[in-house]
This record gives sequence, C-alpha cells and structure tokens, in this order.
Amino acid sequence: MNYRHSYHAGNFADVMKHALQWACLSYLQQKEKPFWLLDTHAGIGMYDLQGEQAQKTAEWELGIKRLLQAEDVPEALTGYVQAVRDLNLPEDSCRWYPGSPYLAALQLREQDQLTLCELHPEDAQLLAENVVQDFPRSQRITVAGGRNGFAALKALTPPPIKRGMVLIDPPFEQPDEFAQVINALADGTKRWANGTYVVWYPIKDPVVASEFQQAVADLPQVSKAMAVDLLIRGAQDSSRLNGCGMLFINPPYGMVQQLPTIMNFLTPLLKQERGAEWQSHWLVGEED
Ligand code: SAM
Repeated sequence: MNYRHSYHAGNFADVMKHALQWACLSYLQQKEKPFWLLDTHAGIGMYDLQGEQAQKTAEWELGIKRLLQAEDVPEALTGYVQAVRDLNLPEDSCRWYPGSPYLAALQLREQDQLTLCELHPEDAQLLAENVVQDFPRSQRITVAGGRNGFAALKALTPPPIKRGMVLIDPPFEQPDEFAQVINALADGTKRWANGTYVVWYPIKDPVVASEFQQAVADLPQVSKAMAVDLLIRGAQDSSRLNGCGMLFINPPYGMVQQLPTIMNFLTPLLKQERGAEWQSHWLVGEED
C-alpha cells in the first residue's frame, strides 16, 4: 500500500468528487429522516497543502486554488467552497483541505451516522485525530481503522438506517481495483438495493472507463445508474490521468438536477489542456 492521498489532495479530481459528494448529501439532508454514510476509502480527512507531499506535486494549485479564486461561483457549489474557506480563516489563504470524511462530518445532523474505513493503520490514526476530535457530534462518527472498506460494505449492509449512501474511492493503483469495485457493488446492491452508491474512478483510457460503466449497468440489482465523466484534456495519451468520473447508482434527484450547473462551471475552471469536456449519461433507468 504505497498510495498517499496527501500528494493529490485538492486536485481537480478531489474538487469534482467533493463538489458532487456535497450536492448528494445536501439532498439527503432535505428530509428529516436520518441518513447513513459509509466512506469505504476515507484517507486521513484533512490535508496540509503547505506540507512536503502536497508541495511536491502542487496538484492543488490546478484544483481547489482555482476554485477559491473563481468569481461568480454558482449557488450549487457555495456550500462546499465555504467549507474550505472556513478552514482557512482568518488568513483567507489555502493551507488546509478537507477530505471526504471531514466534509461529510460537516453535513452530519444529530440523527445521521457516518462510518469511515481506512485500511492503512497510520492513516486510520490520523483520520481519527483529524475528524472525530473536531466534531461535537462525534458519537455519530465511527472510524473503522485498519478495516478493508469492501469487507465493511459487506458486513454493514443492509444498514439499520434505511436511507443513505456509500462512497467508494479506491486508490486505483492495482490492476484489479475496477473488478473489486464491481464485485462490491454486485454484493452491496443485493443486500441493500435502495442505497445510493457513488464511485470515483480515474480516466486514463476512456474505453476502460466505459467498460467499467457497462459492467455496473449489467448488474442484476441495478435499475438506476448514471455516470459523469470529466476530461481535463483530450485523452490521446492513455498513460496520463486525463480526467476522472463518478458513477452513481440511485443518484439523488437534486444532485442530478444540479449537475449541469456544477459541471459547466467546473470544466473550464479545471481544464489543463485542449479537449477538456464533461458529459453525463444514464447507464440504466432514466432517459437523458
Ligand atoms: N476518499 C478520500 C477523500 O476524498 O478525501 C480519499 C481516499 S484515497 C483516494 C484512498 C484511500 O484508501 C487511501 O488512504 C488508502 O490508504 C485507502 N485504502 C486502500 N485500500 C483500501 C481498502 N481496501 N479499504 C479501505 N481503505 C483502503
């Protein structure tokens, strides 16, 4: 396990992922009923963008830095942007960047529950320090340190709280990680068909991404799924990270409605070379 998210925190992929995560949870918050969020690959929750690892790649300068400097940010993004700004007060600089667990914890209400899995033991310890200790409602947050997120998905579904979401964000360093995600979704949707499942994936070769999307669409329990793909440049060279995508099973209606606003704003902002574009399409269920 060599992957360290601190090299990539706040990059274009985090911005897309966290903007859409925020939109999904905002929609789940609209009903009083509690929700449960399982973050299967949580990372450490908070990243120092002035730290050695983030400075080495400076990926955040092409991601969150651009968003924080942008004008006329649409309302659909202001909750997420404000959350990052609040972490950087009073300097109004960009030093701290929240991971998916920290952002989720910010959106948690008294009645909601958050379960965080992080396999790397040191990272799991940091996660507990960064997230649990910062939140007065931390009894609603469980850190399953050292736990395999895929195994947790199997063990914890169906959850007692019926509404909720599973965020699956693996490092994609191993060649079998797409297959692991497909297996986890096959099993998860058998146990908990009504849950929302959100998967982040890299796009090097768009054909690989399409094959993954098709495999999920073919799962028997999946009746509603959509994919949102962002290219930060044309994908001629498939050895590079040319973009990323998010796959949603049972996507929240409000997030789907906000997609064009969010992605039309983010795509030119996060563009790195010619050929940047985004697209979304239903894989199963609703028509475009
Ligand atoms: N979701 C985080 C965020 O948006 O802030 C970033 C997660 S990072 C892409 C992937 C994390 O998964 C790494 O911290 C890695 O140590 C961890 N990891 C790798 N394999 C895992 C597994 N099978 N179960 C749980 N965590 C795993």
